[in-house]
Amino acid sequence: MEDLFLKIIAREIPADIIYEDEYVIAFNDISPQAPVHFLVVPKKKIRTLNDIADEDQALVGRMIQTAGKLGKKMGFAEDGYRTVFNCNEYGGQTVFHIHLHVLAGKPLGWPPYQETLKQPVEQ
Ligand code: AMP
Repeated sequence: MEDLFLKIIAREIPADIIYEDEYVIAFNDISPQAPVHFLVVPKKKIRTLNDIADEDQALVGRMIQTAGKLGKKMGFAEDGYRTVFNCNEYGGQTVFHIHLHVLAGKPLGWPPYQETLKQPVEQ
């Protein structure tokens, strides 16, 4: 299956990109679930959390750190925010290139899930 996020990284399809460096990119989610909702995505293709190799530890740490850095820059870090990695079917993963959801801008309830799963994204 084609990788939607590699296409965004390659500028083959448009996205509202808010940050990019050598290792990661961040762009607004096309279907926001909070006033602020963006994804932090590694430029290296890793399908799911189950596929993270030892050599990827720094990269995944960078993804998480990027969420905090952008939170400070965008002004929501102190109020707080939620970060989510969905994994495989039961986790509700629909794009198979790991990504960290960052949600902010209002108090977020708990538990953070619905009983119904999302539909996979057509790619
Ligand atoms: P997940 O369902 O956890 O795999 O997350 C995939 C996310 O990608 C969903 O929240 C989608 O709304 C989002 N998404 C799908 N296509 C795009 C796109 N073209 N640009 C930005 N976000 C997208």
